[in-house]
Amino acid sequence: MAGGRRYRPVRRHLTPEIRERFWKKVKRGGEDECWLWQGALSGDGRGLCYITGVPGTRYIQKAAAHVAWTLEHEMDLPEGLVLKRTCDGSACVNPAHHEVSRLPGRRAGALTDAQVREIRERAGEETLSALAREYGVTSGYVGVLVYGHARRDAGGPIKSERELVLTDEQVREIRARKGKATGSELAREYGVNRSTIGYILRGVARRGAGEKEHRDG
Ligand SMILES: [Zn+2]
Repeated sequence: MAGGRRYRPVRRHLTPEIRERFWKKVKRGGEDECWLWQGALSGDGRGLCYITGVPGTRYIQKAAAHVAWTLEHEMDLPEGLVLKRTCDGSACVNPAHHEVSRLPGRRAGALTDAQVREIRERAGEETLSALAREYGVTSGYVGVLVYGHARRDAGGPIKSERELVLTDEQVREIRARKGKATGSELAREYGVNRSTIGYILRGVARRGAGEKEHRDG
């Protein structure tokens, strides 16, 4: 891919207009289905997205799947990491069908499964950068491990990005609106991804916030 060598974060260029235009070009299916890109395709059938309005340049060309992943997780894919498609749809941009892995040829970091589990277990108490220093990897990669975008098979507790950021009050608000607003609406409003809303509504995440509600009531 031409021009793909230099690390170029895109999230800050994804204005509300660009986000809206982006999703109009995606044929979204269910959570587990392929979401096929309806815009430009590369020679090997992968979706291409042109982000215009970038200062100092005409546009940035990015893989549509990369943009979808960035929007879903509200973070840039850290430097040195790439997305690997896990389904058969070459034009698929469903973030759930993409896994983060290291660029081939980079120092593998060679974390054992036990170390990956340790990192996941300690992530609530220690900052990502402290863990990164200790294990000799970048904090971006620690985030990727903690949020389960890579090495899922290694086990340990997977956290969702904003799960730890929402206040107990916000979690209670979200639960109170179950059935009145869709998961996507709540996700947009609270700036988290849909799976986080799902975890909260199903009580998989943030059980504590719910218990507090009963005590307060
Ligand atoms: Zn797919």
